[in-house]
Amino acid sequence: MIGVTILGATGSIGVSTLDVLARHPDRFRVVALAANRRADRLYEQCLRHRPRYAVLRDPAAAAELRSRLRSDAPEVEVLEGAAALEQVAALPEVDQVMAAIVGAAGLLPTLAAARAGKRVLLANKEALVMSGALFMEEVRRHGAELLPIDSEHNAVFQCMPADFRRGLAPVGVRRILLTASGGPFRDTPVDALESVTPEQACAHPNWSMGRKISVDSATMMNKGLEVIEACWLFDAGADQVEVLIQPQSIIHSMVAYSDGSVLAQLGNPDMRTPIAHALAWPERLESGVDALDMLRVGQLDFRPVDRTRYPCLELAYQALDEGGTATAILNAANEMAVDAFLDRRLGYMRIAPVIAETMAAVPARSAGSLDEVFEADAAARRAAQAAIRRLAG
Ligand code: NAD
Ligand code: MG
Repeated sequence: MIGVTILGATGSIGVSTLDVLARHPDRFRVVALAANRRADRLYEQCLRHRPRYAVLRDPAAAAELRSRLRSDAPEVEVLEGAAALEQVAALPEVDQVMAAIVGAAGLLPTLAAARAGKRVLLANKEALVMSGALFMEEVRRHGAELLPIDSEHNAVFQCMPADFRRGLAPVGVRRILLTASGGPFRDTPVDALESVTPEQACAHPNWSMGRKISVDSATMMNKGLEVIEACWLFDAGADQVEVLIQPQSIIHSMVAYSDGSVLAQLGNPDMRTPIAHALAWPERLESGVDALDMLRVGQLDFRPVDRTRYPCLELAYQALDEGGTATAILNAANEMAVDAFLDRRLGYMRIAPVIAETMAAVPARSAGSLDEVFEADAAARRAAQAAIRRLAG
């Protein structure tokens, strides 16, 4: 039996992961479910999946969960606080950790899984964006296995030769082609974007996801974060990662080889496919996703990215180019700006300016230690807060 911890169990990726696991009770055992503060959802999940541990970061929510489980599932031990997230990522009876907490909050527990030498199923792209060099070093040092859950990176992984860690040129890889849907506003006139609402931004045409990544998809900061993620995962230079719009979200990404071959991974847009792939790799597992009906898809379109429509993507390339803590600063500013937009404290068209102002205000330094990364994150959040107040008023 493979023991699994899910960090971010109550979110979109967490729920999809539990759906796949529940199809294979003979093969996987849910050891721990962890989330932020949704006691009601975690309670339901505990009754259904009977983990050994349930963790809520928020102590009051954990107390509520504990009292509800006492009579209904007394064998589930309820833990609380940020340290408990790290603890359940590193338990000896855990083989695989789904890292699906959203944002910077996921970094330490995801790192804990890597340091414990687990198979890390990485959905939390922000962890790599914040501290890619450190993170990859910890994975190597502790013999962890890093498998991408992000659909694009999972597709690239599937299209790569097995020995890609020797370097891209030696294995004949010329380029990574990351596909993007273009988000809900890909055809909206740019001057109409001023007044779009959080509800409109979260209504993604192809994928159903958490609110933060949905806004990131609309601004295409998500693709910017993914370019950075791809550079770390596949040891690629920014010039080896190309972004193109594939509006149907059927081709999840591609790898171009030096002989002219292009390998692509296709499928219906459902995260259970990359989740099942990473859980079972190198085997394959029934995921619950329908077979792709090519005749129903009919046609596949491609478009270049209009860079004036997506200034956040430019900012991500700029941060990648600056290196060091610049990508942690980018990430923190983006989290703050998206949060303000979702709270209706900031207009959609002010998201990119908040990030640009923050990057200008906080100088990038070397990202040689976690302390440096968290200092940059904190400085960026302060600068972004000031920029939000100024730009919102
Ligand atoms: P979501 O908002 O639906 O869920 C987030 C989860 O994180 C919840 O379980 C929440 O309780 C937990 N969480 C938030 N803050 C926390 C904290 N401080 N401590 C502990 N837990 C905390 O988000 P999602 O869409 O599932 O995305 C999760 C991650 O996966 C993100 O990094 C996202 O970029 C990535 N991802 C998601 C998708 C998708 O289809 N949803 C695709 C690719 C990558
Ligand atoms: Mg993605």
